[in-house]
Amino acid sequence: MRAIIIGAGIAGLAAALRLERAGWDVLVAERAPERRGGGYGVTFGGIGHDGAERMGILPALRRRAFVTRELIYRRPDGEPRFTLSGQVITATMGAGSFNILRGDIEAVLYEAVGESAAIRFGTTLTAVDQDDEAVRVTLSDGTVEHADLLIGADGLHSATRALVFGPEEDYRLDMGHRVAVYMLGERPAGLPEGTTGTISAGGRTFAMMSVGDGRTAAFFGYRSDLGRPRRSPEELHEVYGDMGWLVPRALEGLRSADSVYFDTISQMVVDRWSHGRVVLLGDAAWCVTLFAGYGSSLAVGGADLLGAALERHPGDVAAALAEWEARLRPEAEKKQRLGRRVKGVYAPRNRVALELTQLPLRLSSWGPVRRMVERGFQLRG
Ligand SMILES: Cc1cc2nc3c(=O)[nH]c(=O)nc-3n(C[C@H](O)[C@H](O)[C@H](O)COP(=O)(O)OP(=O)(O)OC[C@H]3O[C@@H](n4cnc5c(N)ncnc54)[C@H](O)[C@@H]3O)c2cc1C
Repeated sequence: MRAIIIGAGIAGLAAALRLERAGWDVLVAERAPERRGGGYGVTFGGIGHDGAERMGILPALRRRAFVTRELIYRRPDGEPRFTLSGQVITATMGAGSFNILRGDIEAVLYEAVGESAAIRFGTTLTAVDQDDEAVRVTLSDGTVEHADLLIGADGLHSATRALVFGPEEDYRLDMGHRVAVYMLGERPAGLPEGTTGTISAGGRTFAMMSVGDGRTAAFFGYRSDLGRPRRSPEELHEVYGDMGWLVPRALEGLRSADSVYFDTISQMVVDRWSHGRVVLLGDAAWCVTLFAGYGSSLAVGGADLLGAALERHPGDVAAALAEWEARLRPEAEKKQRLGRRVKGVYAPRNRVALELTQLPLRLSSWGPVRRMVERGFQLRG
């Protein structure tokens, strides 16, 4: 059996690893000229944890995990408001979950895939055509590849989805926010190692995160109407220009950052994840958004379950895809609902709303409130 996978992000590489372990021949086409890496700190757990364990990559992921020992909420001028201890942070993350850089998950998967799957960088797909026997994929390098299955793991703006399922606008649910994330060259002195500092004010959230080995991630999440109609990362200077603390230092880092992740925050609501021999996986299929904080876990867990379903139905791709979607969809939709709930309280515009939404966090070192917070975020094991 042969699969063509579009996209070498977390979903694509996890699928390559899992299918290769199931004895499939795998070709991956990645649009970027080389491995993208980079990213931000994510919480990894749930079905991602279980999938990683079955794929044998959990120890390598854990070695790259980082611990946040303090999360300090600050005023726009930098003055501390309140602090969450490492213990409270861990409790709200859920059993077995850990923090890791998105790029480190990708790196672990890439190493595990090794030479066994062919990865063509600088390559995308331009046409797809299928029948009962096979799917034919025309790639941008001019080749036409035949396979039993095409997996579109090409993210939020999936070209596979556009070609086979229809235009992005038919499926995108805009959450009314934008996000920018990048790594800074060094950890500023004002951010102690292993801590995160965050400011929320006027519909904007900023965070600076020490993610181990001296590495530091800057994060901006804000209501889209605060930015320009023609969006660009440069608008961060206007949107965040009045904030103090380490915000000016982070904005300075924008110029020299290797790679800047900048996008609107949108969910993908796709009523069926497969059409014949073409299946969507990861953000291309269900993007739950950072509001749900579970996209990497769903990508790895989803790839593992896909591989398992294909193993259970040798030679019957349709049966495998139907079983896989029935198993995974409830969990993805639950996380989408969580994302939509969190959106409402993510970056409040006014002080009163901010104080109200953060009150449970302020009180969360107290057991009963902590359990309430844990339940609210549905993050417990
Ligand atoms: C700020 C932020 C915080 C987050 N926090 C968390 C968290 O706490 N926990 C969590 O689990 N998840 C989190 N996520 C989500 C998580 O990063 C994603 O859901 C996850 O990485 C899934 O990735 P993917 O492989 O589906 O898509 P992507 O990472 O977008 O990868 C898609 C790949 O396809 C390639 N590609 C795109 N178009 C084409 C094309 N036309 N042809 C070929 N290749 C193409 C891209 O270059 C890329 O390599 C967060 C996301 C953001 C933005």
